Amino acid sequence: MNVIIDPKSVKHPCFNKESSGSCGRVHLPVAPKCNIQCNYCNRKYDCVNESRPGVTSAVLKPFQALEYTKQVLDKEPRITVIGIAGPGDPMANPAETLETMRLIHEAYPHMLFCLSSNGLAMPEYVDDLASLGVTHATVTLNTVDPAIGAKVYSWVRDGNVVYRGQAAAELILSRQLESIAALKARGLAVKVNTIMIPGVNTIENGAPLKAVAEKAHELGVDLMNLMPMHPTAGTPFGELAEPTKDEVTAVRAAIGHLVPQMTHCRRCRADAVGLLCSDRSGELGGVLAACGKLPPQGQDDRPYIAVATREGMLINQHLGEAKRFQIWGKAAASEGGGFRIVEERQAPTAGCGPSRWEDLARLLADCRAVLVGAVGDTPRKILAERGVIAASCSGFIEDALRVAYGESGVDGLEVLRAKQGGLSKPCCGTGEGC
Ligand code: SF4
Ligand code: SF4
Repeated sequence: MNVIIDPKSVKHPCFNKESSGSCGRVHLPVAPKCNIQCNYCNRKYDCVNESRPGVTSAVLKPFQALEYTKQVLDKEPRITVIGIAGPGDPMANPAETLETMRLIHEAYPHMLFCLSSNGLAMPEYVDDLASLGVTHATVTLNTVDPAIGAKVYSWVRDGNVVYRGQAAAELILSRQLESIAALKARGLAVKVNTIMIPGVNTIENGAPLKAVAEKAHELGVDLMNLMPMHPTAGTPFGELAEPTKDEVTAVRAAIGHLVPQMTHCRRCRADAVGLLCSDRSGELGGVLAACGKLPPQGQDDRPYIAVATREGMLINQHLGEAKRFQIWGKAAASEGGGFRIVEERQAPTAGCGPSRWEDLARLLADCRAVLVGAVGDTPRKILAERGVIAASCSGFIEDALRVAYGESGVDGLEVLRAKQGGLSKPCCGTGEGC
């Protein structure tokens, strides 16, 4: 089959086999969490949907990933693609993934950007990904039959709701298809990863796999990566036999007319770096580990924390209700230590849609976080993309500041990130006090 390579994929070693000997990739391991449980995955390891099981990667924070990228590109200038592939699911870690993409795209606008996802949480972020310059995406699609999906996925978590069985399979399938269509509509090159699971999606002479290829063809998918399931001990599929090379080759031959088949995947680690044929992750492991220990950045640039409060004692206002924010900072030892109010700032006018939150991000450009009673998804995302963590808290301001500034023995920014959002219902997105 004569495969015509999309111009933007010429220098992507996975989308264009011809370039795999001269163009490399670096995976930034910034996404530890996952929002589903595949029955072939042991979460001690990297995401099996993209990677080889058996390797636990270091996890970097976005600013550490930027520094790591700088050092890696100095040492391996043949790298043309910067990607995020785990070790969990990038879109189950949207704040980290989007912030990393933003930092990297700002620093290296000429590079190709790639990420792979199980697709569950992707539709919500497709516009963000496109606007952050992501050029290539991979979505897992193991089956288009929910009855088979119910055997593949143990559970699927969407927000606070956990789905199982056929309901889980229907939900994830609908999101995967929605993701692929939306990515294609925005001009990204899309690869589908399909794990070949013996006796599950290989039944009836591989008909379920053919159905995946037909759907991929219908959606305009650029490439399909059919991967044999690697049985991982301790998982529900741990006892299945790994499909042989010949079995994989036969299925690829039977469906290759529907969608081009990838035949050179190396099942890279979530911290892979270098050429596909000469991975340097072992050699550069020391650089990765050192970057993972870099102290939090941005605390000098963003010394303050904003607070939404009615009376000045408690954190008790919704972000959208607050007409003004108190700006707090650390007090000098000569002032007796603790915290001090630096000033109060007037909140941007309500009712201007998303631009209200962009204005708020500018207003809080010197703040690492804003502590509020609650916050909707839209403002949380807009603020996070601009470096301000919107964390929902309650209680006394000074108690929260102690935690947020890391004075309670834990990493304050980590705690704040974990407290991002907090609404059980989605934001209306209008900025009208949501
Ligand atoms: Fe594991 Fe990846 Fe499946 Fe999540 S999506 S359960 S990390 S294989
Ligand atoms: Fe490319 Fe496969 Fe490695 Fe992903 S796992 S970067 S598709 S070779």
